[in-house]
Amino acid sequence: IKLKITKIDIPVSFSTAFEGEIIRRADMQVDMDGSRLDCFELVRTKDSSEIEDHNIEIIGPDIDSVEVGSRFPIGYVVEVAGKNMQSDFEPVFERRFHNFINCAEGVMHTGQRDLIRIRVSKVAFDAGFRAKHIGEILYAKVKSEYDSVVDKCQVKIYTNPDDLKRLRAEANEIYNKRDDRLKSLTDETVPVFYNCILCQSFSPAHVCIVSPERLGLCGAVSWLDAKATNELDPNGPCQVVTKERVVDENLGIWEDVNENVQQASHGSLQQVTLYSIMQDPMTSCGCFECICGIEPMSNGVVIVNREHTGMTPLGMTFSEMASMTGGGVQTPGFMGHGKHFIASKKFMKADGGSRRIVWMPKALKDLVGSRLNKTVQELWGVEDFTEKVGDETVAEDVEGLATFLAEKGHPVLEMEPLL
Ligand code: SF4
Ligand code: ZN
Repeated sequence: IKLKITKIDIPVSFSTAFEGEIIRRADMQVDMDGSRLDCFELVRTKDSSEIEDHNIEIIGPDIDSVEVGSRFPIGYVVEVAGKNMQSDFEPVFERRFHNFINCAEGVMHTGQRDLIRIRVSKVAFDAGFRAKHIGEILYAKVKSEYDSVVDKCQVKIYTNPDDLKRLRAEANEIYNKRDDRLKSLTDETVPVFYNCILCQSFSPAHVCIVSPERLGLCGAVSWLDAKATNELDPNGPCQVVTKERVVDENLGIWEDVNENVQQASHGSLQQVTLYSIMQDPMTSCGCFECICGIEPMSNGVVIVNREHTGMTPLGMTFSEMASMTGGGVQTPGFMGHGKHFIASKKFMKADGGSRRIVWMPKALKDLVGSRLNKTVQELWGVEDFTEKVGDETVAEDVEGLATFLAEKGHPVLEMEPLL
């Protein structure tokens, strides 16, 4: 017999009413900042014998060991067992952690994988909220939301920097393996796409259409994840989207996709293209990993990822670009997207493709460079493409960038104007 868990053992209120709550620097007790420290979140499937149900273990110091307002590293592994559990479901649970943790009053969670950020307010801390309560929330929600596949669950919370460094690297190998499984699939070879409306709690009109070659803009929902989400909960956040009535293959327009978008956005969106940022681009909620925006002087596009705090040649930082791009509206010329979309053959395909990229932060280039180079080489025969793409070490303004592009003979110089 399975008991449905209704009560969560934490010292603060828990409700979806607190989901959008923002905790400002002045109000925070600790800042678990994955962009500066080693942090991660992960779900692993284990054998039932390896799990002691409801065991929540903290390996390392707790959040009361640091001074108020400090940064604090955290990584947690939620281990589950169940005879109907599949490893394909792991990333699906992980993506929900964001919603689960945000429901606690005085606790804010953003991001996913190894780029999470959790802030605990002074008020929640004074009420007794500690690291183990994150485990309590995850335990209770995973057990109640996924009771069809999870029989037992335990949570390990790591806070020692040495452990975190090693475990984060291991987690990244797992994330990479998941991403690799997708490589053999293309938008043409799968029978259907999926939508995702998980972010409608923050951004009510936003819908992601997720295809094998275009993951959700948060970077955490691939086509396989959306498929697993739909299998776990056919009435849940990811629905099947047929793509039988093609309107324009190059732009990526289908009548049935548009019908789905109209319905899922409650009429706010009429038409999206999957492969253009200039014409009816997909909307952005707020959790995009990257933003791509056109750079008119070069006829190219600049991409900036969330972790990059510096200036871009567009004269805007990530957060300035984010304020123009988010909120579930279509902004032609600007688009939020996942990091792994950059190396996709479908990235801005209708606008000339990834060879339009003229600038991106060095760290992002290092992350996606080898895949991006392979794509550009295969499609257009350009070798070592990323060496022609500017970054912050070369230029942070358009003039400097233009000089660099000319020196390197960037392929965009030969392309048709974007506008
Ligand atoms: Fe789903 Fe898109 Fe939100 Fe990711 S960004 S959770 S794919 S709606
Ligand atoms: Zn979102």
